[in-house]
Amino acid sequence: MSVKSPAAARHGARPPVWKSLLKALPFIFLTAFMLLGGGASRDPRQLVPLILTFALISVLFFRMVHTGRTDRYRAVFFILMAFCFVLTFITNLIEVRGSMALTEEDMATGQTPFCHMVIPMTIIPAAFTRTIIFPGSILDGFANIATMFALWIGVTLALGRGFCSWGCFFGGLEDGFSRLRRKPLLRKIGHHWTYLPYAVLGAMVLLSAWTLTPSYCEWLCPFKAVTEFEAVTSTRVLIQTIMFGSLFAGLVVVLPILTRRRTQCGLLCPMGAFQSFSNKINAFDIRIDREKCTDCGQCIRVCPTFSLDANSVAEGKTRLSCTKCGKCVDACPQGAISFHVKGTPVGHKPERARMLFLYPAFLFLVVFGTGMIQGALYRIVLLVTTGSLIQ
Ligand code: SF4
Ligand code: SF4
Repeated sequence: MSVKSPAAARHGARPPVWKSLLKALPFIFLTAFMLLGGGASRDPRQLVPLILTFALISVLFFRMVHTGRTDRYRAVFFILMAFCFVLTFITNLIEVRGSMALTEEDMATGQTPFCHMVIPMTIIPAAFTRTIIFPGSILDGFANIATMFALWIGVTLALGRGFCSWGCFFGGLEDGFSRLRRKPLLRKIGHHWTYLPYAVLGAMVLLSAWTLTPSYCEWLCPFKAVTEFEAVTSTRVLIQTIMFGSLFAGLVVVLPILTRRRTQCGLLCPMGAFQSFSNKINAFDIRIDREKCTDCGQCIRVCPTFSLDANSVAEGKTRLSCTKCGKCVDACPQGAISFHVKGTPVGHKPERARMLFLYPAFLFLVVFGTGMIQGALYRIVLLVTTGSLIQ
């Protein structure tokens, strides 16, 4: 059987540029409106990041439409967003507080930006106590609780667990590290490990309901290492800090490099496990046309979140944990695997299904990432012009 390139297998020849432009233009106009709606600053240190961000978004979306490749261009934005988030977040903290460390006073006054990772742990306590067990503000300030909940509900309804590849500004860190090596050094990870996030989810939800504290954030979140953490003033906080640092180094940096997989998302994250259930109610999924599939296993090898195995491929489906990143779609040499709208025949007009998914998915990526990328570019301009990242 002949093996075609993935894009050729899916679409044959590329569409004419004008057709791709027509498909991309509504999105490009929408982005321009979002970026310029409030008026553009005349300060070149703000204007340059804004123009560069707009150019980047437009080029990536056009390339995604024109080439038929999804993951390649999604990953550029997703990874950039994550690293820019870290740079922007840390520099903002140092500018405002003078340090990444949280004080008791910051927590008592609700000065902590709300993080989506804690959402599953807040639901039972909220039902019983009518409070959110997080030291953040409901309405005020950066990343307040109400805004983050509204964004999360929107992304979940539109994308299901696609949130983890199109919205989560932490996921891009390990996605980035997982692409550093061309071939994995560590291939075999026992199938049973992929159930661990569900166990962590159950344990953390119960523990949080019992203690009325966000237990995952306090003990297990690797991303504390690159955001904010409690100042080390006791043995308990020292142990917590060592846990965050070790989990970040192991699951976000070292294992992704060795395995070419997103190991924090696939083997620990309780938010990801929680989000997997939303795939059941979401209109989009990834399906395999069994008539075209040759069982070559390429999609299983490239899936970063352990969401495909021989059984799921034989059934023409992904596992529940699929984040709709599109990597398997890009990689399949037969064009057998595609984005799919539930209720339609598998493999029917796959490009139309992909575009229907891409508009909301890329929009959420832009909503989450634009400020972070602009913010990081601003810091870089600041560094070049003043010699310091901090104002
Ligand atoms: S769907 Fe997966 S197993 Fe089937 S041909 Fe494509 S890459 Fe190979
Ligand atoms: S099954 Fe495909 S789309 Fe889903 S997470 Fe794996 S590579 Fe991404």
